[in-house]
Amino acid sequence: VWSAVPAGPPDPILGVTEAFKADKNSRKINLGVGAYRDENGKPYVLPSVQKAEEVINTSKLDKEYLPITGLAEFTQRAAHLAYGAESVPLNNNAISAAQSISGTGALRIGGAFLARHYPTSKAIYLPTPTWGNHIPLFKDSGLDVRGYRYFDKSTVGLDFEGLKSDLRAAPEGAIVLLHACAHNPTGIDPTPEQWATISQIVKEKKLFPFFDMAYQGFASGSTDRDAHAVRLFVKDGHQVALAQSFAKNMGLYGERVGAFSLTTTDPEEKARVDSQLKILIRPLYSNPPCHGARIANTILGNQVLCDQWKGEVKGMADRIINMRERLYNILTHDLKTPGEWGHIKSQIGMFSFTGLTAPQTQVLAEKAHVYMTSNGRISMAGLNGSNIEYFAESVDAAVRG
Ligand code: PMP
Repeated sequence: VWSAVPAGPPDPILGVTEAFKADKNSRKINLGVGAYRDENGKPYVLPSVQKAEEVINTSKLDKEYLPITGLAEFTQRAAHLAYGAESVPLNNNAISAAQSISGTGALRIGGAFLARHYPTSKAIYLPTPTWGNHIPLFKDSGLDVRGYRYFDKSTVGLDFEGLKSDLRAAPEGAIVLLHACAHNPTGIDPTPEQWATISQIVKEKKLFPFFDMAYQGFASGSTDRDAHAVRLFVKDGHQVALAQSFAKNMGLYGERVGAFSLTTTDPEEKARVDSQLKILIRPLYSNPPCHGARIANTILGNQVLCDQWKGEVKGMADRIINMRERLYNILTHDLKTPGEWGHIKSQIGMFSFTGLTAPQTQVLAEKAHVYMTSNGRISMAGLNGSNIEYFAESVDAAVRG
C-alpha cells in the first residue's frame, strides 16, 4: 500500500549529528545541536533539577493522569515566570493556559487554536529566517504561512527597516510570530526601543502577536530581562499568545515541559477559552505527561530552589557569553582572520549566525571535523576551553581558503 509514498529529505540538523557521530577524529566538534553543553562538552543536568527530583521521589506521588490542560499549579507558575508578578491579566485571573509537550507542543496548540478560533485571519507572519520547524508546524496547524524580513546579510544584524515595512504591509489582523528572546537561528534580538516600535506597528495594524519563548533566562542570564518583550506587549494593551519551553532553561529537553497561554479580557472569557483548549487537546493526546511538569513546578514553587535555578540559568548564559567574547578575541586579535566578527559578541542566546558560507561549512566538516548547519549557524554551547582555539584556527583556515 505504501508504494507511492515518496522518500522525504532527511532532517538537516539531525544530519549534522549523524555525520559527527560517524567521524572518528578525536578533535571533532559538533556545533549543530541545540542543547547546552558544559565546560567539558557534556550534557548538563541542573543541580536544581536533581534536587527537585529528590523531593518528588520522597513524596511518593502516584502516576494517575493529569487533567487535559495539565498540572494547574505548574501552568500558573509558568505564567507568573513569563508575565511577571505585576501582570494585570495574571492578577485578574484572565490568562488561559495549558501544559504542553514542550515548546513545540505549545506552538502547535496555539497554531490549532488560532486556526479554529481566531476570527480575523489565517495568515501568520514568521521572521525570515526562523526556527526551521515553525514553517511545517504552522502549515500543519492550518495556517497560511508568510514571512517578514528579519536578517540583514550585509550587516549580519537585524533588518529593522525590512521588518517594519513588511509588518506594515501585512493585512490588518494577521498573526505575527515573534521570538521573545534569543532569536533562533540568528542570535539577533530587537533592542528595547525597537520592541516598542514593533508593539506600536502591531497595534496600528491590529496584528495578533504570538510569542515563542524557548530561551527565557538563556539570553541575558535573567528571566525577567528576557521576558521584556512579552511584558511590554501586555502592558501596551495587546492580547497575546505565548509558547513557553523549559527544555533549555531547565535542561529538561527530553522531559518535554512547556506551556501555552493566551491573555483574555476577563475570567468569564478565560473560562470559555479554557473549555475550547480542552476540546482541542483531548483528541490530540488526551493529557500531558506528569514527571517533567512536576520538576518544573517544584522548582518554581520553592523560593530557595527557584533562586538556585535562576543562578544555574545565569551560569549557562554566562558561559556562553564568555565563549562569544573569547571566540571574537581569537579571530579578531590573535589570528586577524579576514572579515568583521563583532556580531559573534553582540548576538544573543545559544546560537550564532557566523556569516560562514555553505561551502566554508563543508570545508570545515571535511578538513577540520567541525560540524554545523550549512547556513553557518553554530551552537555556542558546543564550544569550551579545550576546543575553542582549534575551532577558531579552523574557521580562520576556511575563511582564508
Ligand atoms: N522555538 C524555538 C525558537 C526553538 O529554538 C525551539 C527548540 N529548538 C523550540 C521552539 C521548541 O523546542 P522544544 O519543543 O524542545 O521545547
